[in-house]
Amino acid sequence: MVPRFWRKIKYRYDVVGSYCENCGSYYYPKREICPRCRRRSKLRDEKFPDEGIILSYTVVNSRIIAMIGLNNGAKTLAEVCADKVEIGMKVKKAFRRYGEEGEAGIIYYGTKFVPI
Ligand SMILES: [Zn+2]
Repeated sequence: MVPRFWRKIKYRYDVVGSYCENCGSYYYPKREICPRCRRRSKLRDEKFPDEGIILSYTVVNSRIIAMIGLNNGAKTLAEVCADKVEIGMKVKKAFRRYGEEGEAGIIYYGTKFVPI
């Protein structure tokens, strides 16, 4: 039962953003319209690379939140699971359990990054 559940989760949390065919910009998370092109937006879903480097980071409540530059040039803000990070460090997407809630045992997953 774990594998089926896992596949579902994996699909749900693939790094999918938007690509504007009109101006060539990438956006993550997904957007409905391109802020540059507005009504001329031509957005389509684009699977993003799951590796990148840390551009900057901050520590909030002992969690590391980093601005990550993905390999296609897009940027995303995500938690990095590591004891220590530094700017320029290579990271890749990983799945970490976020938390559980209630008796139904609903588990929330989020996209996080780990050092490569
Ligand atoms: Zn655009």
